[in-house]
Amino acid sequence: MVSWCVAILRRIVGKMAGGANEKPYVDVPTNAVNQKLVRDPVCGLHLAPGLALPLKQGAETLYFCSAECRDKYENGRQKLSASA
Ligand SMILES: [Zn+2]
Repeated sequence: MVSWCVAILRRIVGKMAGGANEKPYVDVPTNAVNQKLVRDPVCGLHLAPGLALPLKQGAETLYFCSAECRDKYENGRQKLSASA
């Protein structure tokens, strides 16, 4: 009796929270589906621009699913240019 209730709750909470401490999975709401999806260049996840973290790269804007991915991308660039 309790177990199925927990299973359903887990499914609902899991959808909202995603993983525990990994990058938060963004469940795209239906009103955002009509928007053009952008692709996270780090993990390859497709997401709505309104839910993504934008990062200006000159003329273009890159979008990331999480600060973790954005940091990864920025760190990668910094290593390439050998600064700091
Ligand atoms: Zn990502």
